[in-house]
Amino acid sequence: MNVLLIYPGLVDGFGSYRSGSDWFNHGVGIISAVLKQEGHRVRYLDCRQCRDWADVRTRIAAEPFAVALLSVATVDFDASRMIAGIIRELAPRAKIIAGGPHPTLATAEMVGLPEFDCIFTHEAEVTLPALLADLDRLPRQVRGEMPMELDRLPFVDRALSPGGETPALWGLPRPFFTITASRGCPYLCTFCQPAERMVFGNKVRKRSVTNILAELEVLTGEHGMRSFMIHDDCFTQFPGWVEEFCREKQLRGLKQPFVCQSRADIICQRPELLARLADAGLTWVLIGFESGSDRVLSFIKKGATVAQNLEAARICRRLGIRIFANYMFGLPTETEEEMRQTVAMIRTIRPDLYAPAVFTPAPGSELYDYCRERDLILIDSAAGYRRNVGSGAKIRGVDYALVRKMVGQSMRYAFLSRARQALQVLRNARCRLLA
Ligand code: SF4
Repeated sequence: MNVLLIYPGLVDGFGSYRSGSDWFNHGVGIISAVLKQEGHRVRYLDCRQCRDWADVRTRIAAEPFAVALLSVATVDFDASRMIAGIIRELAPRAKIIAGGPHPTLATAEMVGLPEFDCIFTHEAEVTLPALLADLDRLPRQVRGEMPMELDRLPFVDRALSPGGETPALWGLPRPFFTITASRGCPYLCTFCQPAERMVFGNKVRKRSVTNILAELEVLTGEHGMRSFMIHDDCFTQFPGWVEEFCREKQLRGLKQPFVCQSRADIICQRPELLARLADAGLTWVLIGFESGSDRVLSFIKKGATVAQNLEAARICRRLGIRIFANYMFGLPTETEEEMRQTVAMIRTIRPDLYAPAVFTPAPGSELYDYCRERDLILIDSAAGYRRNVGSGAKIRGVDYALVRKMVGQSMRYAFLSRARQALQVLRNARCRLLA
């Protein structure tokens, strides 16, 4: 069967793929691999590579297809509806199935939309192939069965992005790739959960180290991988597994530097694990510090304290691991004084890369419900779910001019980081020109 697999990905607009917004969508990548394994002909349309809507139309019409699969994230919701409308017009007999995080988190809203023939929630690898076997009897709504043994799945389809991705972090040579080693997260952060658990379930499922290493070897051998990032929400939560990963990576002679995400509390509890990761090539760690106020950290159920945030940063410094700091302003109940405490914490940490965000109530999260129950939400379009500074007001009662000021103050010592980032952008542009 001819399948058109579509990733809208238009959060940074048309043409953004060429300017560095070329991250790999692992959900799309695994679906492509599974369907190809089943013998389907999969054509991939990445809208980030399109010039404009006319280009999207041309590419959709380029070849016939029986079914279009759209990966819908909340930020892509409006674009996904536009794309589905174009498909209806150009290929009226084709079925349109919407999957991805938004259908799972906002199922009732999606089911009410006429643009889509079928709303596919949760994970698709097990259930989607059977669904495609009988397109004439497509149910309105399908819940995908969860694959329990991730090792049994094929590797994601790198044909969608054979050259890898653009590293936003300096010191990571290209080709750079991202991989996922597990699904799910046991933590309780209220700006995120229970959405994460709604999508991936309560139990964390891990790939075996052997399986992960096999993928890294394929990336090295077939794509010349020179650095990578482990995408998992919290790679460091299982020490034995991480230790095995480090040992095997070194034994197999995989010397590439890599990046992972962790948490301040874990780093403080297990500094020796971070040292082991550094020895195995970890050069950057992404940490969600979030706030410099213990009251706010407790309100968002972060499970870490300001003291742990500062100590985790010290541990990373000692080990020579660079810090990518996620933090946010504009949470409900957050006071100006608490924002200033975040500024002070970030100035003390002096991360290598600053990633400030504006709190945005994500559908499916506890804080989304909190804001909705109190009629706080101001977002009125999918683009409003972007979290970057300057992406508009999110909730009532927050002074966004003050938020912008606090972001600026938190980054007062960011000149070195900015200079290095600018250099990295230039390097990336040069790589793209040479590619
Ligand atoms: S923010 Fe990160 S650590 Fe917290 S629940 Fe979500 S994925 Fe887990």
